Amino acid sequence: MRYNLIRKMDIADGPGVRVSIFMQGCAFHCKNCFNTETWDFNGGKEFTNDTINEVLDLCNQGHIKGLSILGGEPLHPNNIEGTTKLAKAFKEKYPEKNLWVWSGFKFDEDLQGKEVLNYIDVLVDGQYKDELHDFTLKWRGSSNQRVIDVQKSLKENKIVYAVD
Ligand code: SF4
Repeated sequence: MRYNLIRKMDIADGPGVRVSIFMQGCAFHCKNCFNTETWDFNGGKEFTNDTINEVLDLCNQGHIKGLSILGGEPLHPNNIEGTTKLAKAFKEKYPEKNLWVWSGFKFDEDLQGKEVLNYIDVLVDGQYKDELHDFTLKWRGSSNQRVIDVQKSLKENKIVYAVD
């Protein structure tokens, strides 16, 4: 598995000041994707335990409110194992900080039963649809995408939105 980029301070991808990591590789190829350099599964850099430790160290600052995992596609079969490992390690070390993940896969159709859901606070799901693009939307690019409170959704066995 590979990743594209780590941002030490990100104020655009989730609430507050955050650390973010963009995983490498996406097979969805959405029209007008904002991040085409992450499509190639062979691009970027190798994702290792050192990468996980680097991200965890960067999160160890009071002003960092959480971690955001984007892509590329962090939950593609090639990437989900590494993403799950990072997500688990992050929530174990920082239970008070939140984890946001962006994925083209859908919570209810594609991700049910996946271990990674246990560690995600907010999932922004669904592929980017250019014809539904709306720049007034918060945290998502097109109106089909959903900002889901994962822990409440799992508990209540229905989709609960974190943001309408
Ligand atoms: S899922 Fe995301 S990274 Fe993949 S093609 Fe669509 S917008 Fe781009």
